[in-house]
Amino acid sequence: MSLLELHGLYKNYGPVAALAGVDMAVAPGTRTAIVGPSGCGKTTLLRLIAGFEVPDKGRIVLDGQVLADETGSVPAHLRGIGLVAQDGALFPHLTIAENIGFGLARSTARRQERIAELAYIVGLDAAILKRRPHQLSGGQQQRVALARAMAMKPRLMLLDEPFSALDTGLRASMRKAVAEMLEAAGITTILVTHDQAEALSFADQVAVMREGRFSQVGTPRELYLKPKDRMVAEFLGEAIVLPARVGGGFAECSLGRIALETKDKRDLARIMLRPEQVMLERATREEAMAARPGQLYGEVTDLEFGGATCSVAVKLLNSLDPPEAAAIGSTPLMLRKAGTDAPSVGEIVRIHVVGAAHVFS
Ligand code: ATP
Repeated sequence: MSLLELHGLYKNYGPVAALAGVDMAVAPGTRTAIVGPSGCGKTTLLRLIAGFEVPDKGRIVLDGQVLADETGSVPAHLRGIGLVAQDGALFPHLTIAENIGFGLARSTARRQERIAELAYIVGLDAAILKRRPHQLSGGQQQRVALARAMAMKPRLMLLDEPFSALDTGLRASMRKAVAEMLEAAGITTILVTHDQAEALSFADQVAVMREGRFSQVGTPRELYLKPKDRMVAEFLGEAIVLPARVGGGFAECSLGRIALETKDKRDLARIMLRPEQVMLERATREEAMAARPGQLYGEVTDLEFGGATCSVAVKLLNSLDPPEAAAIGSTPLMLRKAGTDAPSVGEIVRIHVVGAAHVFS
């Protein structure tokens, strides 16, 4: 049973097809993240669900109630859906307390307590409740917008990049706090974000959007480890894509014989590994020269220091390619290594792969 169902949604703005056939089901009490490049239609989709736009075609159903179809549309304020927009969209003439309490009936007992509680939940200091929005930072304004939306106890919460104005540390802790808070309140949530790490860590279900439709919808693990195509793979993180000969549960490629989760047989396929599956061990040029069958060596050609994790470019010194699979040529592999143990440019490394590779269909 789904709380929200989207059936064949289309939306054009003049010649621009902002949505070109969107289907999705969202289970009650879950968190869904929508990721995709700028302009792919994410905000348009949220605006359609919220009721600020009407679909040209298709149907939106919430908890069994049709919110929009060819015959009409339920107005936004009657949908019981909370929307936290990218810019927070606070009422400038109201104090922060009044903004948070906007959806609470004046007669609500404990109104002030509830406002203070909501402010606390989103990590706002009670001292700012008397201020007005222009006296707050962008990140604080986003948190007020979130508290205001929470106050209305929506059936569905739509979050459009709600953490974008926060710095990295605060962003991660807010994301966790908001996820816990929504879960505790049993509020089904859809988050739109540019940040793939945010989508993967926040959501139970991730949808990758491209040119107005979903390329793939699934659990974060499915999408990260078994992306449908290269675009989905690369949108959710770095990917090493190699030509390979596939059969009997293994791929033969320039990195050797790698386990697969499929027994499919194909003479030429594309496989994907995540960089963290490729291990690097310091070695010497002599060891590389005397490589035994199955051993693979490379030379570090570039290093991008990133603190906890560094990007290491490695050019293969020998290739374990079967003749059928095209060589990867001189393109270096982009791998990762902990900053505390990163090799230097020019160092020789032994390479081995852990875990299974994924075959693109
Ligand atoms: P971003 O991540 O940059 O916010 P997005 O994925 O949310 O992008 P949308 O804002 O949904 O993308 O826009 C989808 C497409 O529709 C874009 O090409 C955009 O220019 C166009 N578009 C959106 N709103 C309108 C509008 N009101 N009038 C005309 N075109 C629009």
